[in-house]
Amino acid sequence: MSTSPATPPIVDEPVPLPVRWGAPELARLTAMLQQPSLFYWKGPQTTALLEEFRRHYPLQYAFPCSSGTAALHIAVGALRLRPGEEVIVAPITDMGSLIGILYQQGVPVFADLDPRTYNLDPAAVRRAITPKTRAIMAIHLAGNACDMTALLALAREHKLAIIEDCAQSWGARHQGTPVGLLGDFGCYSLNDFKHIGCGDGGLVGTNREEYGPGLSKWGDKSYNRVLGGRDPEDLAPNYRMSEPQAAVAAAQLTRLADIVARRHHAGTRLTALLEGTPGLRLPYVAPGNTHSYWFYLLRLDLPSFRVDRATLAAALTAEGVSCGAGYIPRPVYRYPVFQNHNFFGGAWPVRDSGLTAMDYRAVHCPTAEAILADCLVLKLNEAMSDAYLDKVARAVRTVAGRLAR
Ligand SMILES: *Cc1c(COP(=O)(O)O)cnc(C)c1O
Repeated sequence: MSTSPATPPIVDEPVPLPVRWGAPELARLTAMLQQPSLFYWKGPQTTALLEEFRRHYPLQYAFPCSSGTAALHIAVGALRLRPGEEVIVAPITDMGSLIGILYQQGVPVFADLDPRTYNLDPAAVRRAITPKTRAIMAIHLAGNACDMTALLALAREHKLAIIEDCAQSWGARHQGTPVGLLGDFGCYSLNDFKHIGCGDGGLVGTNREEYGPGLSKWGDKSYNRVLGGRDPEDLAPNYRMSEPQAAVAAAQLTRLADIVARRHHAGTRLTALLEGTPGLRLPYVAPGNTHSYWFYLLRLDLPSFRVDRATLAAALTAEGVSCGAGYIPRPVYRYPVFQNHNFFGGAWPVRDSGLTAMDYRAVHCPTAEAILADCLVLKLNEAMSDAYLDKVARAVRTVAGRLAR
């Protein structure tokens, strides 16, 4: 029996993988092992980390912590959110955006998204504001900045705080300003999958005098490391980072500008190469903003294709494209933990005590749901050359053409 020779895939090479650690990390870790202590307070690695961080993000108060989730929880704590107060959030995000709000007995209120940027739609945010609203969490998804001009105007008008979740958007800019410097708090993740990482870690910063001193206390059991002594005034967790993580994170920050420049170039190139392909809706970057492409999220106009999304993604994979059919499986409010209001051992004290009437089973954000139903993730990293990206784009265009209705 004869079989026809298999045609090689259009992307005929494995996904290039960046070398993530090397001499800078080794030098810091080696120096660290000479230290008498690995505790963060006044530790040389933590000090270096804060110095490197401030080169990119000149935030007067900054606290290195154990995760992005911790950074966001610390921000909510330092804001002194009160039980039943509301924080407006996006329905497409990581659970880490929500955890701190819920632990502080706040109420996440989901507002719908812009269909082209996948970030909060300011008009939907406006409709979600109530007398109980305390803050807006601006989650810059995938490396693309939210419409901060509109969100800041809303915050000013209604006296709301803005917590920026920059976990996916290291190096992204809004009208030239790095994200995290525009709102009241900038929160960053250093988990293993983000632009830069140290295994696990995070950073939270603010320029606000009223919140600044609270960061270190909210991440360190409400102990006052500045004055010394233990006289906790608040209930706060231990979210400290240690010197080994800080050593790696400080070295990683020296790579950030290069990583972001390469990813920005790669994402911009993909858009240029894919522009005009029937059936594809490419990510929109507002003029003046800089997308740092943690990944490349596009949408499919599914009626233009003869097949469903999974089949199209499988065809892309067969052509060597590293991609995923969809992002998170469903909007966050559809997760069982929200549908069952199962936040504290099956109970939700703020609702049980009448401080909120929120029912997540009734929440519906049609644009977020549509995005998750038709989006496609193209993997992108700083090691991808122009030649490689050209093959990816050729494969995407070819498959889209082949499967068009
Ligand atoms: C990764 C991520 C977080 C949480 O960061 P961790 O370090 O994993 O806790 C929060 N928000 C968003 C948008 C994220 O992508």
